[in-house]
Amino acid sequence: MSNVFEERPEIARRFPDLHQAMGPQQATVESNRCLNCFDAPCTAACPTHIDVPGFIKKIASGNLRGSAARILEANVLAESCSRVCPVEVLCEGSCVMHHYNRKPIEIGRLQRFAMESFYASGAGIPTRGAVERTEKIACIGAGPASLACAAELRLQGFQVTVIDKRALPGGLNTYGVAEYKLRATDSLREIEMIRGLGVEFRTAEIVDDDAVADLEREFDFIFLGVGLGTMHRLDIPGGDHRGVVDALEYIAAYKTGEPRNDAKSVAVIGAGNTAIDAAVAAKRLGAAEVKILYRRDEKSISAFDFEFDHAIREGVGFLWCTLPIAVNIAADGTLESLTCVRTDLNEESELVKTEDTEFAVSCDLVIPAIGQSPLIEFLSTVRGLKMERGRIVVNRATGETSNAKYFAGGDCVNGGREVVDAVADGKRAALGIAAQLHVAMEAAHG
Ligand code: SF4
Repeated sequence: MSNVFEERPEIARRFPDLHQAMGPQQATVESNRCLNCFDAPCTAACPTHIDVPGFIKKIASGNLRGSAARILEANVLAESCSRVCPVEVLCEGSCVMHHYNRKPIEIGRLQRFAMESFYASGAGIPTRGAVERTEKIACIGAGPASLACAAELRLQGFQVTVIDKRALPGGLNTYGVAEYKLRATDSLREIEMIRGLGVEFRTAEIVDDDAVADLEREFDFIFLGVGLGTMHRLDIPGGDHRGVVDALEYIAAYKTGEPRNDAKSVAVIGAGNTAIDAAVAAKRLGAAEVKILYRRDEKSISAFDFEFDHAIREGVGFLWCTLPIAVNIAADGTLESLTCVRTDLNEESELVKTEDTEFAVSCDLVIPAIGQSPLIEFLSTVRGLKMERGRIVVNRATGETSNAKYFAGGDCVNGGREVVDAVADGKRAALGIAAQLHVAMEAAHG
């Protein structure tokens, strides 16, 4: 069954695209600026190694289908990556144009142009004419790592099933990326293309101990692309009040469920990219005042510079060196404020609370964005799976885990990186699984 989901008109209106799409004329002019570098540092900087000069040259010559096909060879989630990749620190950050003090080629927008033309044409992913194989692989989790793994294995002829506990596939692409970067409908359109290859999707299916045993019997290999677990709780008095909603839950609600758009004054805790996405969303959902509270100073934030600048432009305020210590509830049960203290670094450069600095930040909604915990409980159901600091240990060249039946990739291995890193991991693991199955087949046929 395909995904049945329609974006609400109100959300489309409140979250228009952050970056304008390129038109054909602009794409032609921009693609002709590319120097078609022999050593292509842009390609080297892309975790999926898209042939950047190759696809740009095809845009310049008007071969849009060929351009998209070239991109898809390397990255099956090319549409979402063109929208969510931090190109400033990846391909565009490496463009040689910087050496000539010229604007880097707009690789992300060109890639999006090629992919949108491709979707508009109604074409499917180019197949490779692979022979149908009987071996079966399950991908647990339906986020970018699993999707990339599933597509590559299916293109090689294997039977692939993607299983996810949520109602819609796509993981963070569908539920967690700010809508003005990537709409849930765009994520699902990309997944439909993968489904069109013959990948089976089983959604709203929880994999517990018993299910793991069944999957091990049913499938030749299992890929773990389960991402990370829930966000860390706000572990202070009042942190479990209904007016405290973690950032991923808040973003997922407005993208695919019931948006929380009744807050007037919002405090977001944390200063990573997810905190920025949640803060900007709160503004766009109608909050008059949105503040990001961060326990360290401005220089220490983990959000990218362009995300920080974006939040400022959207009217989000920042309180630096501020640590919440209690959520305060009014007599009528509503959330009324956060009690905070100032912080500083001691002589050992450790973060400490500054004495006698208590103050209140009024707010009616608190959104913690203080990182996700690993899915230790689920992963412990897999026998012999070696973990380190909450991450699955894999052979980096193949994605193979310490249990030979399992491969893994994406956030559950790297601790939480970009979509494009998950795609690269998923494809690498697919090649690792395929290599083992090809060897097994050759051995069976003498
Ligand atoms: Fe084109 Fe810049 Fe890549 Fe060179 S580095 S091939 S100019 S995009």
